[in-house]
Amino acid sequence: MNSHPPRIASWATVALASALLVAAAALPDRAHAQSAADPTRIITTEVVDAHIRFLSSDEMRGRDAFTPDIRRAEDYIAQAFRRAGLRELPQFPGFRNTFTHEYRNRRDTTAAPVTYELTNVVGWVEGADPVLKHEYILFGAHHDHVGVRGDTGDVIFNGADDNATGTTAILALAQYFAQARTSKRSLVFATFTAEEKGLIGSRHLAENLPVPADKLVAMINFEMIGKPAADGSYTLMILGPERSTLDEIFRAALDPDSPVTLVDPLEHQVRYYNGSDNRSFDAAGHITTTLASPLSTDDPFYHRPNDHYEHLNVDYMTRVIRAVVDMTETLASGEAKPVKTGAGG
Ligand SMILES: [Zn+2]
Repeated sequence: MNSHPPRIASWATVALASALLVAAAALPDRAHAQSAADPTRIITTEVVDAHIRFLSSDEMRGRDAFTPDIRRAEDYIAQAFRRAGLRELPQFPGFRNTFTHEYRNRRDTTAAPVTYELTNVVGWVEGADPVLKHEYILFGAHHDHVGVRGDTGDVIFNGADDNATGTTAILALAQYFAQARTSKRSLVFATFTAEEKGLIGSRHLAENLPVPADKLVAMINFEMIGKPAADGSYTLMILGPERSTLDEIFRAALDPDSPVTLVDPLEHQVRYYNGSDNRSFDAAGHITTTLASPLSTDDPFYHRPNDHYEHLNVDYMTRVIRAVVDMTETLASGEAKPVKTGAGG
């Protein structure tokens, strides 16, 4: 299948090492432990840029969950979790939640089902409070995309915005919270496989949670956070604001000096609440949202081969990821606990 496996393998090894080195350079030394909780020290544009470049490179071959290509991305995520200092859950050694899935092609009902081995990547940071550590916040994003299609021109669908950006947010937040140790509640970090095949990875995790289901306070999903709004403003869309008090908690906690502001979906964007992995957790009864760029639902590069790194705004991404630390501060500290409202009740 691959005409140059040795070159690509060595490229990937070098790129992996250098991307992880950039991330490691952000580790604060002990003398500066006092400022270790400052997100600007850990969530830097260099860290964000290194992750996004690696995950959206041609060598990832579009991260199709039904091909071996996706293993490279999963290896990278697991290594980044380890370097960040995340802990493995006993159920998921090596940060891997591997399972088999029997896939039936809905478009071709005569086709025989195919069994795939699929992997979500999952790790956690234990909460600092002896009581609150038994409650959990789950941060998630899908790491797969749609792979390689066609045989002329640009055949690799890089999925830079969709969803190497969300995956990058998980890696940067994992690194931040593992180092800062500021969260009283425990935090689970997950990247999902096979979202593009029908939310398969997230559904598996939601139905096989590694923590008690009634102790999951909220699931926060990231999908396409690579570009500012069409007018250039640094806005971030919170999907499903009518379903729980998560949006109020986020708005109250977000630093008014942050360049990022939260916006509700416009009428045509409301349905995207059901369009990503948060839906799997909603179906299991949990309080969830997806955070996305307001542009994401109308992006001309969506599911096209030119969803490339070059079209992303790394400064916007970095500011958004830092803002998430802010927005979730009272959730992490245990001061706030979201409840379902309206349509979510
Ligand atoms: Zn997506």
